Amino acid sequence: MSDSKSDELLAEARQLFIRSFASDFTLPVIARAEGATITDVDGREYLDFSSGQMCATVGHNHPRIAEAVRSAADRVVHINSAMLSPEVIALGRRVVELLPRPLDRVFFLSTGGESNEAALKIAKKVTGRYEIVGLAHSFHGSTSGAGASTFIPSRRAGYGPTMPGSFAIPVPDCYRCPLALTFPSCEYACARVGFDLVDRQSVGSLAAVIAEPILGTAGCVEPPPGYFGELQRLARQREMLLVFDEAQTGLGRTGDMWGGDRDGVAPDLLTISKTLGGGIPLAATATTAAIEEKAYREGFHFFTSHLNEPLPAAVGLAVLDVIAEEKLVEAARDKGAYLKTGLLALKDRYEIVGDVRGRGLLMGLDFVADRVSKRPAEAQAEAITRECLRRGLFLAATRQAGRYWVWRVAPPLTISHAEIDRSLEIIEAAIRTVVGS
Ligand code: PLP
Repeated sequence: MSDSKSDELLAEARQLFIRSFASDFTLPVIARAEGATITDVDGREYLDFSSGQMCATVGHNHPRIAEAVRSAADRVVHINSAMLSPEVIALGRRVVELLPRPLDRVFFLSTGGESNEAALKIAKKVTGRYEIVGLAHSFHGSTSGAGASTFIPSRRAGYGPTMPGSFAIPVPDCYRCPLALTFPSCEYACARVGFDLVDRQSVGSLAAVIAEPILGTAGCVEPPPGYFGELQRLARQREMLLVFDEAQTGLGRTGDMWGGDRDGVAPDLLTISKTLGGGIPLAATATTAAIEEKAYREGFHFFTSHLNEPLPAAVGLAVLDVIAEEKLVEAARDKGAYLKTGLLALKDRYEIVGDVRGRGLLMGLDFVADRVSKRPAEAQAEAITRECLRRGLFLAATRQAGRYWVWRVAPPLTISHAEIDRSLEIIEAAIRTVVGS
């Protein structure tokens, strides 16, 4: 006999679904979502500190999104991929207005993986080269091209060769520096050493380097200030293009419109996904007019059944309206600072919290067995996460066995101060339950 509706449904799910990302189906089955709260089929509420799969920056089921879906369904949902609709053109105008200059060309796809595939294909077309450099620990999607620049061992192993010419450079992780150096005296040695090794392995066909401004899936690693200026310099030295994957960081989450704004670096190509559709599949690849022109002349072709689709575009417009009207970029900065103060206070009190990093409402909380070895406190972190859930707070972890175990702390930007206070109380109570005071 199962003791809840969730358990009953999960038992059925285990007989139905291919296991992939979620392998055990133990999380509650969600029936409703609103703002920062998700509610399961048994009526239990949870604060959602993962914003769904990092998409619900404007809060779950924002009424404007629901209205945009309804009214688009009354007008036009889907058209031929060679056609456009007024909302797609309006979204193009709005996104271009927001892009860091000189970027001013865009098209719309469905997922982050696709937007990176398209960006890398544009880079290959315009440079006439094919080698791609990525940051170790980064995640850019599950498709073959984007996946080839995803250097997370568990996501690569067992599928045969990846794209030839995919190189990793060391992750710019100041908490666990791969070169055991210290910033700023390191002078970005990780980037320089990385490119030195790339130069030795390259067959002379370097096309692009792709990077997340904050490496979200990889333990919320925030590269040190100025890192991206150095990365761009190293790329330009080799006539490579720079691609920013702003799936998690774009549209306000870090307290700036773009994650790349901190270092004042405009990439050659920028990809947007999760945050643009507020939960509806919508992604974008953006570049400069000069790159677009050259790619087109070289015969660039990238097509899906949902290229420049009207319904998601209508939702994207609603998302951008909400971000502007509710001043969510500023909210991410202010509430992020408030939440970070609370998390840092926990770090002061509990040895197991080794590091709190990130900015805006994209932070990593790193659980360590001890602060010297920085080995991940895997079992305890799992237990604390379960205890938070039991008390009404959902936190998603990013982890690599034996390397790191990190909460990606990323609630909707609409979260209230009272909800932040409640979450901090829950986290502290959960830590005390598991590790004592
Ligand atoms: N890029 C980054 C930085 C991501 O975090 C993700 C998804 O987690 C992706 C790309 C892939 O996006 P999607 O799952 O929409 O294909």
